[in-house]
Amino acid sequence: MMTAPLVQVRSLTKHFRLPGGWLSGGARYVYAVDGVDLDIAAGEVFGLVGESGCGKTTLGRIILRLIEPTAGQVLFAGCDLTTLKGNKMRAMRQQMQVVFQNPLSSLSPRFKVEQIVAEPLATHHVLPKNEIRGRVIELLEQVGLGKQHLDRFPHELSGGQCQRVAVARALAVNPKLIVLDEPTSALDVSVQAQIINLLEDLKKMHRLTYLFISHDLNVVQHISDRIGVMYLGMLVELGPSGAIFGEPLHPYTKALFGAIPLPVVDSGRELTILEGNVPSPVNPPSGCRFHTRCPLVQEICKQSQPELRQVRLERFVTCHFVESN
Ligand code: ATP
Repeated sequence: MMTAPLVQVRSLTKHFRLPGGWLSGGARYVYAVDGVDLDIAAGEVFGLVGESGCGKTTLGRIILRLIEPTAGQVLFAGCDLTTLKGNKMRAMRQQMQVVFQNPLSSLSPRFKVEQIVAEPLATHHVLPKNEIRGRVIELLEQVGLGKQHLDRFPHELSGGQCQRVAVARALAVNPKLIVLDEPTSALDVSVQAQIINLLEDLKKMHRLTYLFISHDLNVVQHISDRIGVMYLGMLVELGPSGAIFGEPLHPYTKALFGAIPLPVVDSGRELTILEGNVPSPVNPPSGCRFHTRCPLVQEICKQSQPELRQVRLERFVTCHFVESN
């Protein structure tokens, strides 16, 4: 019997309302996530890629219910998170944790490592008080730190050590899913590899499932089983990592992957891979959202938005012109 996916995302939509609008002719919205469907199997690493602003973080946060969707559903272990309230949602939160990009700003500067890692244990009443310190030490050892770090403040640690603390905190309550939102982007290249190796080891050790959000395609290729490629709030390609990197099908994925290793400009997160700028998610193009930058553009692309459709075994794209076989 096939087991249900751990995470099922259905028609997920988040439109952020922009301030103002009364004088300028009505409300304006950022179409950050606009009708996304995807499944994440238990034990899988699902990589989510796309240029800055395409909606990756928003999607990750809705899955964790850190923000409410405008429409759509997120099922976690078969349970509809979008309708859960109170204690039931709190219990569910224990199973879903997050590691953010910038470890120094995601760890409270006023707390020592021991308090930071113990905090979820206390919040979820996982252990009696007298067992918490032992558990924190065990977690620190699992992430390559130790007792000697208990009394340190985040500013006394390196970026890599801070990220190890963030991972230990995420692991503390035995989650099933960890959303890793650009977990290595703020780190030196040499440290990035250590953290990726650590995440891979911990995944095996604890049978974890990861949603791995990144613009670093080399890292995503290395760690992911399957990949979703986002463009302006929508998924444009979905499939096994090896197959997508071996033969990208959507014109956007082709352009995105054609440039590995990617030149990085500005904030260190922007990718310069394609002609022209990403259109504004406040005013996304009609039809296929990629049509303003697509080398294959035809009249139909300007008028009709393609559906995500299966074109190969386990492979899906939103493009009028990718042929099935
Ligand atoms: P990055 O890699 O830069 O973090 P991303 O792909 O994760 O980008 P999101 O951070 O999800 O993209 O943002 C998607 C769009 O939604 C962007 O245009 C962003 O400016 C907008 N956005 C995100 N949060 C809000 C908010 N609270 N209010 C209004 N707009 C928002």
